[in-house]
Amino acid sequence: MVTVDEMAAFCKRKGFVFPSAEIHENLAGFYDYGPLGIEMKRNIKNLWWRSVVQNKENVVGIDGAIISPESVWKASGHVESFVDIVGYCKKCKKKIKLDKHEIGIAKCPNCGILYENNGEFNPMFETTVGAVKEESKKVYLRPETAQMIFVNFKNILDTSRVKLPFGIAQIGKAFRNEISPRNFLFRMREFEQMELEFFVHPQKLNDCPNFDEVKNVKINVLTADQQENNDQETTQMTINDLFSNKLIRTKWHAYWIGLRYKWFLDIGINPDKLRLREHTKDELSHYSMETWDIEYNYPFGWKELEGIANRTDFDLKQHIKYSKKDLYYFDTETNEKIIPYVVAEPSVGVDRIFLTLLFDSYTEEEVNGEKRIVLKLHPLIAPYKVAVFPLVKKDGLDKKAKEVFDILKKEFNCFYDESGSIGRRYRRMDEIGTKSTVTIDYQTLEDDSVTLRDRDSMKQIRVDIKDLIITIRKFLNGKKLENLGKIIKKE
Ligand code: ATP
Repeated sequence: MVTVDEMAAFCKRKGFVFPSAEIHENLAGFYDYGPLGIEMKRNIKNLWWRSVVQNKENVVGIDGAIISPESVWKASGHVESFVDIVGYCKKCKKKIKLDKHEIGIAKCPNCGILYENNGEFNPMFETTVGAVKEESKKVYLRPETAQMIFVNFKNILDTSRVKLPFGIAQIGKAFRNEISPRNFLFRMREFEQMELEFFVHPQKLNDCPNFDEVKNVKINVLTADQQENNDQETTQMTINDLFSNKLIRTKWHAYWIGLRYKWFLDIGINPDKLRLREHTKDELSHYSMETWDIEYNYPFGWKELEGIANRTDFDLKQHIKYSKKDLYYFDTETNEKIIPYVVAEPSVGVDRIFLTLLFDSYTEEEVNGEKRIVLKLHPLIAPYKVAVFPLVKKDGLDKKAKEVFDILKKEFNCFYDESGSIGRRYRRMDEIGTKSTVTIDYQTLEDDSVTLRDRDSMKQIRVDIKDLIITIRKFLNGKKLENLGKIIKKE
């Protein structure tokens, strides 16, 4: 696996991600996405939205404001309890964020000495709103998107006809003044989150009619008990095992963990690099009763990719208390006012998924004595779905290639390139993960057929232009090239 610095250099070289405002001064923890990065990031967000919102009859979305008044963050507990512990290395003078369970055991990787506990730090960015100093108000940039969901709970109840159980989802920026932003996109100060709050009747935490969808999903599991006994060996279990053995306490929570784990498998992440780790008691956030993290084995170790917490009725109760507004749900079956439970809050960083997918797909191979870099990304994640090339930029091949590009671009996000050797152009597509390349050659002018090349096997078939869209669609959906035509060539 490449190192994190090599990955950052690769991303800059290819136009995925750049350090932000680099021509002035690079502030650690801020990045800008380039032309390829923005396409890939958008694909990740669209796939998440489709899976969590549009494919569900009982989940709706919102897009809340980034800045909100202090009382929101007092109610949520962030002003008081959202604190990071500052670890300090006396020798190299570096500061890092320590997790509670790392106090007194974490060592500086450079100097090998124990980090000192340098106190607590609240990573929320604060600013003021209002032009006149005396009238200006203290506000915070949100450190998580979730609170905008809770403050809009009543608006959603009043306008969208949702009935328990239901979810509210959101994608948007979050900000944390991290003590030591590092590992490229892994720990940033400005990042994007995708969060869902799933509300359930407090007496129906196990009434989950959808459970069969996920019950057989296989997961590598590390429980809190194991960690307390210094056992780091994961055991493979199904979601059904996890719930029946009471490791995950509620069925709806188990359902969402299964669904989210499966989503990572569906977008092509290597199952051997994923595990589900339960938070130990002293690690739980102030709002959580039970949390499970989906972790990935990065070059810098196993780390959280997504957290799925049971937030109970903590947040709604707190907002009722601080805003003095009625945020109850009226249960028409029992004619009772209740406060629903957020039995599952899947919360994940878009940038973290982006980085994970790059590490997971980055491959170096040798072809005919030369090194080739391939991003073996799932076709739906890759920035471009199809590349269109004329074999050479003359004899009318370029004109014909543009015609084919015009047909395909209506259907897929396509890339067109006509200059340089064809071999180099293929390599460039391999490096950015484009699964299929269409080449217009001299035979195209005779019989209106083109070649279709597979990024991974480097094999090619011939396809009639009239069948091209349907063939590419099948190919991108997982059909093998050899099942779509006769192999004519391999590099
Ligand atoms: P960590 O322990 O890594 O700091 P956390 O437990 O503080 O994470 P949560 O509050 O659970 O993180 O945030 C939910 C998700 O948001 C994380 O799983 C991660 O994917 C993403 N995330 C959190 N902090 C950052 C950050 N600084 N940069 C990028 N993504 C982040």
